[in-house]
Amino acid sequence: MSCLDLSLQKLDAGLLEHASLVAVYVGMHTATRIAVQALPRIRLLAPKAHLCVYGLYAPMNEALLRALGVDTVLGGEVEPALLSLCQRLRINGNPSQSEPVVSLSKIAFEVPDRSGLPKLSRYAHLVLPDGSTRVAGFAEGSRGCKHLCRHCPVVPVYQGKFRIVPADVVMEDIRQQVKEGATHISFGDPDFFNGPTHGLRLARALHEAFPRVTFDATIKIQHLIDHKELLPELRASGCLFITSAVEAVDDDILRHLDKNHTSRDFDRAVALTREAGIALAPTFVAFTPWTTLDGTIALLERLVELRLVESVPPVQLTIRLLVPEGSWLLKLPGFRERLLAFDPALLGYPWIHRDPRVDRLQQDLQAQVARCEQGAVPRREVFAAIWRMAHEAAARPAPKLAGDLGAPIPRLSEPWYCCAEPTEQQLQSF
Ligand code: SF4
Repeated sequence: MSCLDLSLQKLDAGLLEHASLVAVYVGMHTATRIAVQALPRIRLLAPKAHLCVYGLYAPMNEALLRALGVDTVLGGEVEPALLSLCQRLRINGNPSQSEPVVSLSKIAFEVPDRSGLPKLSRYAHLVLPDGSTRVAGFAEGSRGCKHLCRHCPVVPVYQGKFRIVPADVVMEDIRQQVKEGATHISFGDPDFFNGPTHGLRLARALHEAFPRVTFDATIKIQHLIDHKELLPELRASGCLFITSAVEAVDDDILRHLDKNHTSRDFDRAVALTREAGIALAPTFVAFTPWTTLDGTIALLERLVELRLVESVPPVQLTIRLLVPEGSWLLKLPGFRERLLAFDPALLGYPWIHRDPRVDRLQQDLQAQVARCEQGAVPRREVFAAIWRMAHEAAARPAPKLAGDLGAPIPRLSEPWYCCAEPTEQQLQSF
């Protein structure tokens, strides 16, 4: 068995020529866009292979993937289905799919085999405020989510369920990455506090085994407030920062997305994490069909007021709501009528804002941020450009940015986001 990471490696014709099974993992929207581009070439290079696409984004793109010649599509808890597929291929040659497209059965988790992957040091690393870097590993303490935020890609597959990965399996996976040089672990659970006791158990186990290894996790605003008493222990166990999908500071938009928190809850979460000594890295869906130019300025003002200018990757302030097939946003009364026909190139339903100035601003900001990222412009300066452009779009004078805008926080070298259209830069990397 061989493994290729298409975000870092090229397709290998020699490897594919005699392959009998090619299974492509699509855990994120961007990975799916890359897979859709790669599949025709894979088909050409591996003419005899059974094609399988698996991962969170596979079931919602099933029709498109099948049209591209994919034989098996799997989502949810996929390991038993992958095993069954391999066994059937050995016995029957090239059978048609008999495994369920989505399985949420409880499975016996195994320690991930990372031996075929590129070196850990080639992946995103931790960047500390002083500019120093650390090799980062990745671990998964749970899968799925017990919440039902309408725009979230986890929801159509897991439908409010989540699965705990046993602590000894997670720790063994961390151990193999620490051996390879990781001194920071990024927990990739959709929400580290879906099972707060489990989250805390993992934090304790990590700290006990590797006291110098730090970590970060993703925790929703509501959980930060509900489990505030756990935050000091997370910090004491090495938690450097928490990513939280704030999405908006407008209560109407938060209601449309069914986020279960309010704009003021965001303020509270900032205060609680600060008090615990953990940096908060909020993420946003800055542009939605309900966004207004004044609303964009209000978001920027809130970041200034909360001293979070350095805590938000500028790309977060350009992100446009993604509506993939199966999105629970399609259940929102009247929402589907605002969308254009499904676009296979986008893997989603495009939408046009009623106010063309909003769409223009989003495109201009996206281009500006991409230029700044190529030139490694500091976050504070990019924010200043966004501030000026947003005020110009609304024909409002831009007040001078002054006072304490916040200090840089630890971060990963590649900001991640899943409920958004990928930037051109990301796609070009493939
Ligand atoms: S956005 Fe976060 S909390 Fe909401 S359903 Fe998705 S993973 Fe769960």
